[in-house]
Amino acid sequence: MNAAVQGSRGAAQGWKAKAGGLLLPFRSYLFALLAVALVVLAGAHTRLRETVLDARFHVVKRAPSGSIAMVEIDPRSIAAVGRWPWPRSLHAEMVRKLAELGVTDIAFDVDFSARSIDAEDRRFSEALKGAGGSVILPIFRQVASGASSVRQGYVNRPLAMFEADAWLGMVNVAPDRDGVARDFNFGATIDGQFIPSIAALLAGLHEPATPDFRIDFGIDSSAVRGVPYIDILRGNGDLGAVLSGKKVIVAGTAAELGDRFVVPGGQVIPGALLQVLAAESMLQGRTLRTTTFALSLALLFVPLLVAFVLRRRRARHRIVAVISAAIAAEAAAIAIQSVYPVAIDTSLLHVAAFAYALIALVEEVDLRGLLRLTAEKRFNNVAMSLSDGLVCIDRDGRISMSNEAASLIFGFDASRMRSLQFAELLAGETAGKVPGAFPNINAQVHEETGRRANGELFPLECSWSVWETPSGRQYGVVLRDISERRLQQERIRYLAEMDPVSGLPNNNSLIAALNDAVGRGEPRRLILASLWHFRRMRDLEGQTFADALIRAAAARLRSKLGQGMILSRSDSDEFAILLPASQADVDHLATSLIETFRNEPLEAEGRAVRVPVVLGHAGSEEAADPEVWLGNARFALAAAQRQESETAVSFAPGMRDEVEKRMALENRLRQALAAGEFELFYQPQVDLQTRSIVGAEALIRWHHPERGYVSPGEFMPVINGSSLADGVSAWVLETAIRQAAIWQQRGTPLRVGINLSQSQFTAGTLAMEVARLLEITRLDPAWLELEVTEDIILDDISRVRAILGSLRELGVHIAFDDFGTGYGSLTSLRDFPLDTIKVDQTFVRKLESGSENAAIVAATIELGKALGKSIIAEGIETEAVAALLTTLGCQEGQGYLFGRPMPARELEKTWLRWAA
Ligand code: C2E
Ligand code: MG
Ligand code: MG
Repeated sequence: MNAAVQGSRGAAQGWKAKAGGLLLPFRSYLFALLAVALVVLAGAHTRLRETVLDARFHVVKRAPSGSIAMVEIDPRSIAAVGRWPWPRSLHAEMVRKLAELGVTDIAFDVDFSARSIDAEDRRFSEALKGAGGSVILPIFRQVASGASSVRQGYVNRPLAMFEADAWLGMVNVAPDRDGVARDFNFGATIDGQFIPSIAALLAGLHEPATPDFRIDFGIDSSAVRGVPYIDILRGNGDLGAVLSGKKVIVAGTAAELGDRFVVPGGQVIPGALLQVLAAESMLQGRTLRTTTFALSLALLFVPLLVAFVLRRRRARHRIVAVISAAIAAEAAAIAIQSVYPVAIDTSLLHVAAFAYALIALVEEVDLRGLLRLTAEKRFNNVAMSLSDGLVCIDRDGRISMSNEAASLIFGFDASRMRSLQFAELLAGETAGKVPGAFPNINAQVHEETGRRANGELFPLECSWSVWETPSGRQYGVVLRDISERRLQQERIRYLAEMDPVSGLPNNNSLIAALNDAVGRGEPRRLILASLWHFRRMRDLEGQTFADALIRAAAARLRSKLGQGMILSRSDSDEFAILLPASQADVDHLATSLIETFRNEPLEAEGRAVRVPVVLGHAGSEEAADPEVWLGNARFALAAAQRQESETAVSFAPGMRDEVEKRMALENRLRQALAAGEFELFYQPQVDLQTRSIVGAEALIRWHHPERGYVSPGEFMPVINGSSLADGVSAWVLETAIRQAAIWQQRGTPLRVGINLSQSQFTAGTLAMEVARLLEITRLDPAWLELEVTEDIILDDISRVRAILGSLRELGVHIAFDDFGTGYGSLTSLRDFPLDTIKVDQTFVRKLESGSENAAIVAATIELGKALGKSIIAEGIETEAVAALLTTLGCQEGQGYLFGRPMPARELEKTWLRWAA
């Protein structure tokens, strides 16, 4: 839309508004005129006018002149004659009788247009001649059906023989559309000759002088004298007194003869009486004329003018005045009509008066005021029960209304609130402004700073609404103290983004920061630092200590940060440092961190603990998205942990492949378990002195369809690190116990050693499971030796100790496998319920007398004996080693020298038969 169009539209709207404003005070007049216009346009005016004028006949009454009487062919006369139509000799007789009675004019409203019996016709013709031209006979047009005018149709006139000696008079009457006969034709021109109506002739008017007129129905029709036809024929009563010197109309009044008309007031009268009333109207100068439409229009301004003159007065006064004016106008019209033959049309005047009064009444009652009052009351109820504050403000910013909640929020009582400017409730930028200063504020929600009565500032939410009132623009503001909500939001945001223990950003924040870095495309490096054995320390020392340790580590890491580095806690034992990617920076920081953590103990709960860190890192250039990037860094960290690396490990794509390979192998192993590809081999354990078999260790093998037997070193770490661990160790346990039971049943019982794995201790059902298997197989528990390693023992010390205790109570032996390789071997020996020490093969395989290993092995054997444990040496490959161990006091041994791990059948063949 261009500016010009917009401008002109604006102007048009302005004009409309102005015009509306100008017209507003005149709306009641306009409504009155509109009502009149509607009445006229709807075609209701005529009917309304007739209603008014017809009603007026009830008021303006007058008596007939009495100079015209009726000779009625009434039911009694018809009954007396005894037949119908009557012979014309009767009418001839009537003419003569009336003449004798001194009647001056005789008008027949009886049909003489058709021939009857000649003698009868002749007698009537002679009577006419005898009357000497004082008789009037009817002429009328047969009105074609549907035609409303007498100017059409076939003309019905008396026989020529009658017409020669009589006057002709029209008898046609044309009722109005509503079927009521009101207007009267003075006469009509037929075949070029003017023929007056019977009424005109009776009134003594012969010339076509009078135009159509309205019959004055105010003339009392009941006072018109009527004499039954038969009474005249028979000479009944004092007829002379009634008829002498009069004019008469002879006509049928019996209802069965038809010829009846509806007249104003709803009465039905015979056509002859209508003729008499018309004649009377003419005789008395009462041929009524209706006023013009223009006058009707002009008159309607009378009440409106009165209203206008009194426009400053109250509506009820104006209503009374307008109705009085209408009544007065009507009275005047009646007065005029009673003196002059003028029927003034006041119908539109009444419509205007009524319409004006109606609207003035509506205004007086002030419906809108009432509605407003109800609405206001309802609004107040709602406002007062709101839990939010609510104030209404005028356009100058003054508070005009406020609810209780608003008082509570701001600490001002209700009356004090109402004396304030809204701005006084606010602090900050918008405080000084009045609401009008904000364009389009309606339906807006703003956050402001509120100010309480005691000066305290708080976050405030204002929801605005605006409305127009006669006294100008008003504003409503719903006020909400959002301090609590803000705090909650802060808290939620803090929890979402921060680690509550260390106070550092958490993993979510790290991902966001990584995302940001990736988006900016600047090369960055992510270092992950993991505290060595953190989980184990947490389990040993408890959560509080672990948290303190984390805080100490976080503080140390923070102190090492350089420019542009971001530190976060990305996992329970893992911190992340995001830094600009200069290799030198990374190396420098990594070395410094590793050194510091290795050499300087951390302070936690008043204790100094040396906790080394392991570091892995990855660069943004190797990953397109933050998740992959973080994943890469974790691969590097995992590699560093596996290798127990003393330097930071950088991510290499091969690490991902390794994991993928591991996953493929895991899947393959799952199939292997289902397909029964695992087997147990047994390695003999012998008495070093006698070389006889004392036991066998069950060792798992994977019988791969293509690769043959795969040794556990290749797949056990994968199984133990996956969900397969439970299934595989349960299978090992059951298979080995069943094998031991078989050997026991066969009479060659043999102690069977089974390697346990960590998952069996986490499940917590190990002792129960062993008990169940012992029960099923009826194996003597003394033939069962369960091997645990230091890894298992140290994972969850108290738990493992409890489980081992229960196992020992079953009568099962517990052996400490790979003794001497871990750090906690000595304390474990003291604290755990163990029966046997298995000296690890790293000390045994290349054992030479006088070596350090010989010293360790000798000490271990001494210690074991002192603690009442039996000793077995693993990895004996040579006779020399076996001999040396014997001299050192070791009783049992296991190694390739005596036998490699082998299938059970083979062990039975080579060892058990021999033993047996
Ligand atoms: P381990 O329990 O210490 O088992 C002894 C390992 O030393 C076996 O290796 C055995 O073949 C090997 N060995 C025995 N004598 C000699 C010797 O004279 N010289 C040399 N060089 N080695 C000898 P294997 O069978 O490969 O098992 C490796 C490890 O896998 C086992 O060490 C054990 O920790 C684990 N393992 C084996 N089978 C199972 C099992 O069924 N369950 C669990 N959880 N772990 C198992
Ligand atoms: Mg073992
Ligand atoms: Mg071992």
